[in-house]
Amino acid sequence: MIYLSAVLEIILIDPEKRKRAIKCSECGLSYSAKDYKVLYDNKKLIFFKFKFPNRKTYKTFCHSCIVEYIHENFPFDKELPIKIITTKYEYVCKLYHSDGSDDTFGLSDTDLFK
Ligand SMILES: [Zn+2]
Repeated sequence: MIYLSAVLEIILIDPEKRKRAIKCSECGLSYSAKDYKVLYDNKKLIFFKFKFPNRKTYKTFCHSCIVEYIHENFPFDKELPIKIITTKYEYVCKLYHSDGSDDTFGLSDTDLFK
């Protein structure tokens, strides 16, 4: 059963704290912790952790797969409110889905990259 009365939470994997290599569970994209930090600092890549509200284990996703994954599992028309949790802040923002590739990130809040 899909339970959506709560806002979905996705956790940003902090490149400052990451020590091990990291891999997207969907597309297999993988980087060392050092490379992830470089890509993150250059605003190219963010990895997230996400779990279903009723499950215990997290899966790791790159920023493009997380949008697809949530869209597949929690179908929404245009936008879906989500919460992004970082080590310092929590952002409530909206997830957009589009088939065009202009908006590759698919998130309304680009302040994440501050
Ligand atoms: Zn991926």
